[in-house]
Amino acid sequence: MNALTDLTPQALAAQFAEWGAPPSHAARLLRHFYNRGGTVDWDELLVGKALQERILRELPLRSASVSARHESTDGTVKFLLAMARGGSTETVLMTTPYAERAAGCVSSQIGCAMGCDFCASTRRGLERNLEAGEIVEQFLYLRAEALATNRRLSTLVFMGMGEPFHNFENVVEAIRRIASPDLGGLGWRQVTVSTVGIVPGIRALADLDLNINLALSLHAPDDATRATIVPANRRFPVAEIIDATKYFYEKTGRITNIEYCMLAGINDSDEHARMLAELLRGFRTHINLIPYNFTGAGVSGRMYTRPQQERLDSFLKIVRAAGFIAHFRVTRGDDVNAACGQLRETMQA
Ligand code: SF4
Repeated sequence: MNALTDLTPQALAAQFAEWGAPPSHAARLLRHFYNRGGTVDWDELLVGKALQERILRELPLRSASVSARHESTDGTVKFLLAMARGGSTETVLMTTPYAERAAGCVSSQIGCAMGCDFCASTRRGLERNLEAGEIVEQFLYLRAEALATNRRLSTLVFMGMGEPFHNFENVVEAIRRIASPDLGGLGWRQVTVSTVGIVPGIRALADLDLNINLALSLHAPDDATRATIVPANRRFPVAEIIDATKYFYEKTGRITNIEYCMLAGINDSDEHARMLAELLRGFRTHINLIPYNFTGAGVSGRMYTRPQQERLDSFLKIVRAAGFIAHFRVTRGDDVNAACGQLRETMQA
């Protein structure tokens, strides 16, 4: 059965018309529901008793429920959501440098087929794509959590479980609902989609010109290194991915974030830093260096570790000296396995 989170204003208006209720209530109800993080205050909404009762009887507000919630010592909150259509997924609310704002991270799939060796989300392969409404539900749970702590959910990244461009249509539909002023009202520029480098997806998103941001999980500047940790590189080599990313910039004017998970002895040498700078020369990007968060043995059986601080510093110095804006991403939620690469389908505190 569809839940309210599955419906567009048009679909809900059609349902109301079928019930003999004013279709004009549909847009108002959805806006109210999205604003409140997925709840309805019937006294405030005033849609009439008959319609209210029919909705409560026949239209569940949500199709996902929280089966576990973990809070990190740094304030990060991770939810395990059980989906009515089967499976579960994780979604995360993070603190920001601004006390009144929070940042969300949502999943686009249950599991992931991409097999990045250092990532926990892929260990059990891909179970299924999440539907647009199921992605919207994650956003609403995060918004509700932020509201409950007097904060505003101000940004949303698609960096949880899954490769968003392998679920392109549902991801785009979810973004349209989350960002548009008529529903979620988050704002287009507040949304970032992160890809491991699915070239057709990058180009298709550029052509849609939604005014959202792109993050590229590059993790290595050369095919030889990247292919050992990101199997998708065999299908889309580094040069093709960077071409597509430049195309995104030319079409949208949005600066791409380059994500680089730093793995000791794998991709963290000075030589890698120089190759990265050379690869991106002349291209306006932000480089986010992510010191590896422990996830256990990779798909290959290989164990990874975080580089020593002096190695991290040396890498950062080289890319900055080459003129790039580069930072270490502040690790959040790693004590509850909510940090980058640590999300999976079963809750592990
Ligand atoms: S890093 Fe992203 S694309 Fe790679 S396996 Fe993990 S979830 Fe999938």
